[in-house]
Amino acid sequence: MKIAIFGAGQLAMMMIEESSKLNHDFIVVDPTQNPPASKHAKHLQTNYDEQKTLDYIVANCDVATIDFENVDISAMRYLEKKIKVFPPSQALEVCQDRLLEKNLFRKLNINVTEYKEIKNISDLKNYCQGNESRYLLKSRRFGYDGKNQLKCNSKIDLLENLLSECSCIIEKIVDFSTEVSLVCTRQDNDNIVFYPLIENFHKDGILKYSKFPYINSELQDTAEMYGRELLNYFNYVGVLVVEFFVSNDGKLVANEMAPRVHNSGHWSIEGSSRSQFELHVRAITGDLDKKPINFKPSLMFNILSKYPDDNILNSLHLHYFHSYDKEERNLRKLGHITTTKNNAEQIESILPEYLKLLDN
Ligand code: AMP
Repeated sequence: MKIAIFGAGQLAMMMIEESSKLNHDFIVVDPTQNPPASKHAKHLQTNYDEQKTLDYIVANCDVATIDFENVDISAMRYLEKKIKVFPPSQALEVCQDRLLEKNLFRKLNINVTEYKEIKNISDLKNYCQGNESRYLLKSRRFGYDGKNQLKCNSKIDLLENLLSECSCIIEKIVDFSTEVSLVCTRQDNDNIVFYPLIENFHKDGILKYSKFPYINSELQDTAEMYGRELLNYFNYVGVLVVEFFVSNDGKLVANEMAPRVHNSGHWSIEGSSRSQFELHVRAITGDLDKKPINFKPSLMFNILSKYPDDNILNSLHLHYFHSYDKEERNLRKLGHITTTKNNAEQIESILPEYLKLLDN
């Protein structure tokens, strides 16, 4: 099949690499110069809503997908009338807006923290009632990786600035023991695949490393029930990832969802017999069969800001290093390193070394 991907970052790159045996042709759309996936596919360097580009895709592709959620919804709707677009534009629209996303979680009885739309500083003060340190102010849109997020006890001018620039919500801070994510893949009602939960560790709102698997059968069942509700609500096709807090009292609290392959699933390239990238491409091309998937305990570390030098790479345990060939920039995701082991104890035993060498 001919597949168009909107966004040509590392997620698109790994989607193409991981489905090489499936014999599809890819076109990537991205306005930037030399993005990671441009070396692996025909690159249309245009804006995402450029009419000529959309018409080219309609004429040349069977299906369109994305590698980031902030695509132009009207462009996706236009495409949807002419070719298959997965995930559906309705899912993209909800995932672009924290308020719509949290409202949907609530509607589907998915546990969330207390939240409210906030328009100005007096709304915020009235709601927090002196407990500002217990709440976060977050922009509704464009707020990934902890961006556009402030504690409600931050300086008034910072809060006012964010409120004047973006529509916002406030959220009660969850006291959590850890964070987990669920990678879900759906082709249709009969073909839904869940990975075991993944445990995620963030620094300043950005994913630092993930450990797989996080074994807790009760939480796994609840997460899958929530995942299934969301997938069926959207009649979803492709990979959807739901991120949760595990609260101190042991409950899952949904934070957000990503309508795409996700950083917390990168270990699956080496740690499973079907990576999240392969599953996504199989689902959107109607090729998801019921073959069982095997897993290995894995550790995935993000490379942020600066590439590690050879001394560091050589001194790490046996590992797989994925470079996205991007220019170094503060807090930019430049690559990742995955290690797989035979059991969880071995993962724990190498973790201190990884934290020492890669915690930048
Ligand atoms: P987000 O941009 O919503 O994905 O948030 C990034 C990270 O900030 C999360 O993974 C958490 O570590 C932290 N965070 C966000 N919202 C909350 C919350 N309501 N309570 C506690 N921590 C949060």
